[in-house]
Amino acid sequence: MIKENLELVEQNICEACQRAGRLRSDVTLIAVSKTNPVVSLREAMDCGIQIFGENKVQEMLEKQQELPETLQWHMIGHLQRNKVKYIMGKVALIHSVDSLRLAEEISKEAEKQGTEEDILVEINVAEEISKFGITTEEALQLIQDIAKLPHIHIKGLMTIAPFVENPEENRGVFRALKKLSVDIEKKNIDNVTMNVLSMGMTNDYQIAIEEGATMVRVGTGIFGTRSYTA
Ligand SMILES: *Cc1c(COP(=O)(O)O)cnc(C)c1O
Repeated sequence: MIKENLELVEQNICEACQRAGRLRSDVTLIAVSKTNPVVSLREAMDCGIQIFGENKVQEMLEKQQELPETLQWHMIGHLQRNKVKYIMGKVALIHSVDSLRLAEEISKEAEKQGTEEDILVEINVAEEISKFGITTEEALQLIQDIAKLPHIHIKGLMTIAPFVENPEENRGVFRALKKLSVDIEKKNIDNVTMNVLSMGMTNDYQIAIEEGATMVRVGTGIFGTRSYTA
């Protein structure tokens, strides 16, 4: 099942890249494996997946222990400050930084553990009350503040688009995030690059790619419907 799902996702990514006149190599697929057992991650690995996205620290650390060290892990969920110390040096990218206090903790812990941490700033483009992330208006100030911290590096932006029936409805959200990243890039802030745009999930990753996503986070489209009984 995972193999067939991955083939379909891959085909969809290729087609979206073609429609947008982009290269397949411009888009990185993050396999969002949260709630799924290690056996499913192994199955995805056998199909060539090397990057997994998780949203809980404990769950990610447990899976890491059972799987090869060559894999890349991305923290995509809301991160509590008291958990930061457990993941330093163990994640390639944190997608979900939305406050200066969290960024300060990451920089401090990275320094303590002799490492550096790459992050994205999470933007709540649609300003949904139920979601984490800062508003578009708050972005520049927060990014300027985080940029001054020594052991943390901003690589781009992330957003979680609203849940909608028709993914076309999210095109404007993706377009707005792309525009924000271009605006911020123009400011040429030290220690800030805007090469990564993490947007698009199972429902809407094709639209996100058409609008400039460089990372798509696909869970159910690869692993099937999640059960939260665990
Ligand atoms: C769960 C999750 C995803 C994947 O969602 P699907 O709809 O299953 O593809 C992507 N991004 C974040 C931040 C998530 O928490």
